[in-house]
Amino acid sequence: MSLTVGEMDKHVQSIADKNQIVIHRSLNRLSRSYSIRASEEIYIAPIRSVLSYATALHELGHQLGPHQRSSHVLVREKAAWKWAKKSALLWSPRMQEYAEAAIEWYEENHRNIDMRGRLYSSVVEPL
Ligand SMILES: [Zn+2]
Repeated sequence: MSLTVGEMDKHVQSIADKNQIVIHRSLNRLSRSYSIRASEEIYIAPIRSVLSYATALHELGHQLGPHQRSSHVLVREKAAWKWAKKSALLWSPRMQEYAEAAIEWYEENHRNIDMRGRLYSSVVEPL
């Protein structure tokens, strides 16, 4: 099974519409994607590949997935990726690798982020 970028974008938008989440597609880099829970907005790059699709779903996972009120960033990140994978119409090996690399980055950096997290509520994704 494969999807066009149009189908991936439509899927992401339909989830957002159902849950009244606003999507901003204005970023240049995937790695700068983020989610603001308080205002129910996500900031992503335009969906042009399975990786930007995975990232968009991951950011929606920060809005809609479980454990997002955890004070531990690693818990929030793993849960958001799990939600993304479960919600995706397709989950390819590249998407899986990308998710694993993101989680690995957080495994190395979560202590510092948790400390900073007491000051800032949103986290910029690392990849
Ligand atoms: Zn994340």
